[in-house]
Amino acid sequence: MRIAMIGTGYVGLVSGACFADFGHDVTCVDKDAGKIDAINRGVMPIWEPGLEALVKANADRGRLAFTTDIKDGVKDAEAVFIAVGTPARRGDGHADLSFVFAAVRELAKALQGPAVIVTKSTVPVGTGDEIARILAEEGAPEGTSVASNPEFLREGAAIADFKHPDRIVVGTDDDHAREVLREIYRPLFLNKAPILFTGRRTAELTKYAANAFLAVKISFINEIADLCEAVGADVQEVARGIGLDNRIGPKFLHPGPGYGGSCFPKDTLALLQTANEAGVPQRIVNTVVKVNDDRKASMAGRVTSALGGSVKGKRIGVLGLAFKPNTDDMRDAASIPLIQSLTEDGADVIAFDPAAMDNAKGMIDGLACANDAYAVANGADALVIVTEWDEFRALDLDKLAATMRGKALIDLRNVYDPEEAEKAGLDYRGIGRGRAR
Ligand code: NAD
Repeated sequence: MRIAMIGTGYVGLVSGACFADFGHDVTCVDKDAGKIDAINRGVMPIWEPGLEALVKANADRGRLAFTTDIKDGVKDAEAVFIAVGTPARRGDGHADLSFVFAAVRELAKALQGPAVIVTKSTVPVGTGDEIARILAEEGAPEGTSVASNPEFLREGAAIADFKHPDRIVVGTDDDHAREVLREIYRPLFLNKAPILFTGRRTAELTKYAANAFLAVKISFINEIADLCEAVGADVQEVARGIGLDNRIGPKFLHPGPGYGGSCFPKDTLALLQTANEAGVPQRIVNTVVKVNDDRKASMAGRVTSALGGSVKGKRIGVLGLAFKPNTDDMRDAASIPLIQSLTEDGADVIAFDPAAMDNAKGMIDGLACANDAYAVANGADALVIVTEWDEFRALDLDKLAATMRGKALIDLRNVYDPEEAEKAGLDYRGIGRGRAR
């Protein structure tokens, strides 16, 4: 199958490389010439485990190419995936579809023959209809169809997720489009991945409903964690106790500093916009958005209270900047409001992240970074674990405590056993770990 991928970011690059690995002939297109040049030199624009080797292996076999020239990219393509960004529009939270529509217009002119246009970007209900309208308006070849195929991969585990998805959702009423997508994903049927064929609008909404539900789950356990602190219960054990119930499930019950990343914040806002326009307000999701915003804003207060009410002149070490481990993605990361707030209150913040420091420096003015966790701890009054990278899970707590000036360890991911941390002389504060038993 000959496939073109428009947009070579987290989703486009991973999807393109995986499709090539299935044996398809893939060309990834991006308008960012720097990105395409770097990839063609073997330098990945994103930090994603296993990606560099996968791209190289498939490029070497001649199945994966990269270009800035859309005409070249879509030549002879049977399917063209759109994987450009759909950030939240400033002001109202509606998904900004300008990148999608611009790509569709360019695409309509570049196509030499009919193709199945597949939206992989997360787009609001009805976007497929608008894409079909634009294609017709711009004179796309007769027989061109539009399908929705939302992507559910997680950054940090993107390749494994793409190759072993829980499900593949395809929304289209067009028989040919359905067969082309079935053929593209056929290698995954061997892994028994269920493929759900449905209408285009249903597929579009499924993606938002999935992300909103996960956001609800995270916010739910975060509020239960606060209650645990107030009443002397341990949220880790509550989460295990409820998660073992098959109806609930153990995933997404990890309390923390609030969800971030490139998807949940913007997708919950976009769902609320769709719901309001449809006159069907989503009160649960609406509340979750507020709960999460408040939570992120409140994390600096935990550090302040651990330091006795003021951070002025205090040195605070931050471990982890990315919104989650195994990625360099800083979009809407909880570290951003935390560090900004502490800095505004007069703290001297120093941070370390294994992959996200370069991106973070572009988003947090004046961010000071160190080379590893121990350098961050050196002379710190407080240490805050923000992202649960593996390398922060087995730090030598005695060594940390010895180099710190103060003793506060604020563990926003509950990585450490409170008793072990206290044994090392640290004043440990996790999330939702009330003590009275
Ligand atoms: P990204 O910002 O990493 O990549 C988007 C790329 O598209 C950029 O490289 C940009 O230069 C390129 N682009 C924009 N307009 C273009 C055009 N006209 N022609 C060619 N290239 C163009 O974005 P992402 O994180 O990969 O997300 C893409 C979409 O996938 C979004 O809708 C997002 O919601 C969705 N999604 C993301 C994830 C994730 O974990 N990142 C997971 C599932 C779904």
